[in-house]
Amino acid sequence: MRSSIFTMLHETTLLIPAPIQAAMVAHCLREAPLECCGVLGGNGRTVDSFYPLRNAKQSETRYEADATEVIRAVVELRGRGAEFVAIYHSHPKWQAVPSQTDLNENHYGDLPRIIVSLLGETPEVRAWRLDPENYEEIPVTVVPTQVEPTAGTG
Ligand SMILES: [Zn+2]
Repeated sequence: MRSSIFTMLHETTLLIPAPIQAAMVAHCLREAPLECCGVLGGNGRTVDSFYPLRNAKQSETRYEADATEVIRAVVELRGRGAEFVAIYHSHPKWQAVPSQTDLNENHYGDLPRIIVSLLGETPEVRAWRLDPENYEEIPVTVVPTQVEPTAGTG
């Protein structure tokens, strides 16, 4: 069954409040030249919280979220009926598209994967759905807001 474009966008667009997007990009810049990673929490495709996580690999080309911090984020989110909406990581020296490593080491199934590229003058933020062989872009909408983001556990 064919869905309308509106329905499709409604289902797939990630809605990220501007302060959270800014905090995520700032985290990536702070950790460079190392890759960094973190979680955006909320419900469905609507982000309402930000959890910067430690990159256990401390690498410029790999990341692995610190397991203890992942669990802490899950517990915090579940405690208020929220969940992971997306996982982000940075590409300090590469485009904002999934690498072969990202496809090979896909531990999070269908969960949208945000990649923040620091390659250009301005950081670029794109989101993807990965499967072992392929990837598909998920639109991102940054929502202007005056509301401060929920503090993460970072
Ligand atoms: Zn990557």
